[in-house]
Amino acid sequence: RDLVVSFPGRRRPFRAAPPPLRAVDGVGFDLHEGETLGLVGESGCGKSTTARGVMRLVEPAAGSVKLRGRELLGLPAAQLRAARRDVQMVFQDPYSSLDPSMLIRESIGEPLDVHLKLGRRDRAERVGELLRRVGLPPEYMMRYPHEFSGGQRQRLTIARAIAADPKILVLDEAVSALDVSTQNQVIGLLEELSAAIGLTYLFIAHDLSVVRHISDRVAVMYLGQIVEHGDATRVFDAPAHPYTEALLSAVPVPSPRVQRSRERIVLAGDPPDPSRVPPGCRFHTRCPYVMDLCRTEVPQPTRAQGSGEVACHLHTSGPTLAGASVRSLG
Ligand code: SF4
Ligand code: MG
Repeated sequence: RDLVVSFPGRRRPFRAAPPPLRAVDGVGFDLHEGETLGLVGESGCGKSTTARGVMRLVEPAAGSVKLRGRELLGLPAAQLRAARRDVQMVFQDPYSSLDPSMLIRESIGEPLDVHLKLGRRDRAERVGELLRRVGLPPEYMMRYPHEFSGGQRQRLTIARAIAADPKILVLDEAVSALDVSTQNQVIGLLEELSAAIGLTYLFIAHDLSVVRHISDRVAVMYLGQIVEHGDATRVFDAPAHPYTEALLSAVPVPSPRVQRSRERIVLAGDPPDPSRVPPGCRFHTRCPYVMDLCRTEVPQPTRAQGSGEVACHLHTSGPTLAGASVRSLG
């Protein structure tokens, strides 16, 4: 709730100290047991920083993070370590969790040593079991990371992440570096795992087509804030926020025979510098529907038709998206 993560602004010689940069500026969401929440948005919008703030890998400046009712912010280090066992992260680069100089047996066994303290034989057995769980033969434990393909390495990373029986996996662009068919295989594995061991996922990706199939709900971030969230089918079929609509219009249709139902919306320019957030609606510098009101008034989250919420004046005071006139940016 109301999570804020800020970094010191970039200092310039002979200038006053800049205000801190709010990479995450009042983010809040629920993650229900057993579900997958997709967190999407362009790179730099604060998705990873949100995840890192939730994990307290960076210390949030404000807000509240509760895991089954227990407040994590302010929790002393020893108790935080115990709580972290329930929440594991998987990153895009498998080498961030698989030490290239370590046998797979050691990489995957490490969290077991930290949390479970098994004897040698039980430990090897458990590592073999984990490998089988992610679709790899147990013998692979005697190999090194470089002996595997990208997709296999990501399976190994997942094996390591689930080693100590976490409840939640935070997957930060976990399949983004893989080709499409390998992506689908790893996503298939994640779905199997969630069904088999009841895992909950926070699935972070800039690519919406990746998020579509795995997510039960989706939250869309822009410049450090969630601008829309709701059931995945509602968000994909009837996006309420102009930013979501633009992101979706860029997703390639699955088959050339499927008629594209929406025209591609090209957003003007890059996202603004997070140290200079536009006043009013943060998206107003790029929004095809921008109104005068948007330049001065911050839109508050309101119920989106169907499910979830949206923060946009089209839904608070103006016509709905479908009825609004689109101004072309071409
Ligand atoms: Fe666009 Fe205005 Fe809605 Fe912001 S509030 S997304 S500028 S229409
Ligand atoms: Mg990121």
